[in-house]
Amino acid sequence: MKTRAAVAFEAKKLLEIVELDLEGPRAGEVLVEIKATGICHTDAYTLDGFDSEGIFPSVLGHEGAGIVREVGAGVTSLKAGDHVIPLYTAECRQCKTCLSGKSNLCTAVRTTQGKGVMPDGTSRFRYKGREVFHYMGCSTFSNFTVLPEISLAKIRDDAPFDKACYIGCGVTTGVGAVINTAKVEAGANVIVFGLGGIGLNVIQAAKMVGADMIVGVDINDAKADWGKRFGMTHFVNSKNVQGDLVPHLVALTNGGADYTFDCTGNTTVMRQALEACHRGWGESIIIGVAEAGREIATRPFQLVTGRVWKGSAFGGARGRTDVPKIVDWYMNGKIEIDPMITHVLSLDEINKGFDLMHEGKSIRSVIVY
Ligand SMILES: [Zn+2]
Ligand SMILES: [Zn+2]
Repeated sequence: MKTRAAVAFEAKKLLEIVELDLEGPRAGEVLVEIKATGICHTDAYTLDGFDSEGIFPSVLGHEGAGIVREVGAGVTSLKAGDHVIPLYTAECRQCKTCLSGKSNLCTAVRTTQGKGVMPDGTSRFRYKGREVFHYMGCSTFSNFTVLPEISLAKIRDDAPFDKACYIGCGVTTGVGAVINTAKVEAGANVIVFGLGGIGLNVIQAAKMVGADMIVGVDINDAKADWGKRFGMTHFVNSKNVQGDLVPHLVALTNGGADYTFDCTGNTTVMRQALEACHRGWGESIIIGVAEAGREIATRPFQLVTGRVWKGSAFGGARGRTDVPKIVDWYMNGKIEIDPMITHVLSLDEINKGFDLMHEGKSIRSVIVY
């Protein structure tokens, strides 16, 4: 079949909207009509050439929602008409990692996914006869795409696609880091570094679980109103702090935070986030993606005296199990998404969506097909 898609032919070039040939689903695979997709920093990271393993030409996009149109041989958990969210972290429920119950980093399709192909080693996309690669196993910048069955979360039919798609990455990354990785408890004090989309989702999850103090740290005063809207109780503009930031935050939280979250990807901030934790038990969670080659540092004394450094990918969420629950939380009003979708664009306007993100003008832009 044919599908319209925004193709990344080369790094550092604009996406081009073209018609691709898409082969139908093979065994264990599912054809999905994508109805909406968010534009995430990770797409820009790859498009801008920072990802040393970036493969071109490819169909980017990993934050979508859509409808199953056809299933391949052997697919049992999904059928045509099901509403789904694509998962860049699969959940096979059979590999060592899935069976451990300790991590969401399923290994079933990891190797082939990283090479831009389906588990059988081939791509379903072609442009003028030439192979075009999949991205993060999702390729949601195509109106139709093929995924492994284990890379799809079935969600309720009444969730709007243009909001639910954000649960495919940003919402789950932020909310999951609070629920699954940190396991923040009621009454805890929390500091969130970086009040972009991920940081706002950390804030609203901290509020949902009953955190006491929720401190937001950013270098942009305009982010204060955004933070407050989702439950932030205190705002610190790190540029305006007299002296060092860490002692300021430790004093503000009466000895340090129970949990801190880095949502900036900046390794200096990651260190501050760890050191702003309470002596003896504070935990710092790294969510932000650092530039390739960067390293983190602190004095070992920080860990010897009980601070804990952790990180999580996709919020530690097991996609097929946890994503439908987060969709329910949204539909039941426990978390908000609508105000974070600041721009809705057509596929033809997708490069504008990247510009808005780079310029810091959007929390999230969503493409609606
Ligand atoms: Zn993402
Ligand atoms: Zn697995």
